[in-house]
Amino acid sequence: MTRPNILIVDDEEDIRLNLMAALSAEGYDIRLAATGAEALDMVKERRPDLVMLDVMMPDMDGYELCKRMKEDYGLKNVGVVFASALRKTRDRVEGLDRGADDYITKPFNMPELMAKIRAHLRMSEYKKQLERLAEFARSLNSIELDRISAAVSETLPDLLPSDRFSLFMLDGQENNLRLLAHNYGGEGMDNLLLPLESSPIMAEALKNGVEILVEDFQASPYSTRSKRARYNDGYAFCAPVMMGGEALGVLNLNGNGQGFFSRMDMNVARLVTETLAATLLNHRRHMEINRLAITDGLTKLFNHRHFYERLTQEFERTRRFHQDLTCVMIDVDHFKKINDTYGHLAGDVILKHIADKLAAHLRKIDLVARYGGEEFSILLPQTDTHAAEAVAERIRQDVASSPAETGAGPVTVTISIGICSANTPGVTKVDDLVRMADEALYQAKRAGRDKTLVYGAGN
Ligand code: GH3
Ligand code: MG
Ligand code: MG
Repeated sequence: MTRPNILIVDDEEDIRLNLMAALSAEGYDIRLAATGAEALDMVKERRPDLVMLDVMMPDMDGYELCKRMKEDYGLKNVGVVFASALRKTRDRVEGLDRGADDYITKPFNMPELMAKIRAHLRMSEYKKQLERLAEFARSLNSIELDRISAAVSETLPDLLPSDRFSLFMLDGQENNLRLLAHNYGGEGMDNLLLPLESSPIMAEALKNGVEILVEDFQASPYSTRSKRARYNDGYAFCAPVMMGGEALGVLNLNGNGQGFFSRMDMNVARLVTETLAATLLNHRRHMEINRLAITDGLTKLFNHRHFYERLTQEFERTRRFHQDLTCVMIDVDHFKKINDTYGHLAGDVILKHIADKLAAHLRKIDLVARYGGEEFSILLPQTDTHAAEAVAERIRQDVASSPAETGAGPVTVTISIGICSANTPGVTKVDDLVRMADEALYQAKRAGRDKTLVYGAGN
């Protein structure tokens, strides 16, 4: 903790020196100014925590200096206490109405003066805290993780000054904790991923939705074994980052080297985690919307738009690196009749069944989409027509031999498949690739359905 800084402004040297002696003895950091103008320069150069201000001074009087400070955005929250020999009610009222926080009269009653200064410094600390919180909230106004992480790293140590902090983001599906911001330094910390169960303290904080504060972590039930060497002491605070019951992350503070835990303010800690929760929820919603925008609702495959986007990217990459890329178009055979016979609901179940089959046969780098209606498309990077044909045949046979379990009973359908690769003569742009795969599909239909055909083969 830095010592509170107090500026004493008085044109009488005796008063300045006496006050300085008394306040220095209390451990405050004291600066002196003999005129209003000098004081104005000093407060601008370094913002004090409190100004003790004489009213009557030759050049600029105390009222004027106070007014100028209150007009300055960066200084208006600095506490101002008038210390004056003018004792009339009118003077006191005027001083307070000029924006001062207090008005005390000379000669000073020292014990009362000291108590008032302590009270004003507490107030000053609250105001600073509030400014920092406002700044924190402003700086977190982003949905990009990099910026959120940078803002937290920059501001959090001032708000909750423990020796170490770490902020984890909870991945809703997998229950993994991803390290988002920390001040541990060291290699290998960035992008650290932990299963939630690996940390009993974080798991419990999230499960119960309450902060956990321990003074001796090693002796607490949360200790998992050794590994406490990084910390100088056993202080640990673990707070869930949640909103409306939705778990979003966890904030950890460790180490009391700055004396923080003894004066820790739960209200501030909670405001911090609530601000973080709002930010992480925003981020999560944003990611969710992005995901929905590229996903087909029925089959959960990518949609047509995303297929084209990725196809365009992959096509360019393929050209640049002289690799191959194969496009596969798939259409369900006689699907109209299936719908007519078993009903649309059964038809939907069958489409989902086929989508699952398609996905099951593909590699991580492949992409499968619902192209539209009962048509699907697959992108196979670094794959030629020959290899693609083998994959397609496996898929076709799998679909033909495994009935979908529908409300109208098990239903077996077949699919027809057309294939074209980016290296096929005549393919100069993305649309060529899709059109020619579609032509191959049409040929497969004409050849009797339940077939795989490569563009140009057999013509
Ligand atoms: P072909 O073998 O020549 O492809 O015959 P088909 O009957 O499958 O072809 P057509 O294009 O004439 O009909 C496609 C049918 O797919 C018509 C449409 O109602 C149905 N369909 C499209 N989307 C959906 C869907 O989301 N759910 C259901 N149940 N049916 C769909
Ligand atoms: Mg069709
Ligand atoms: Mg069809």
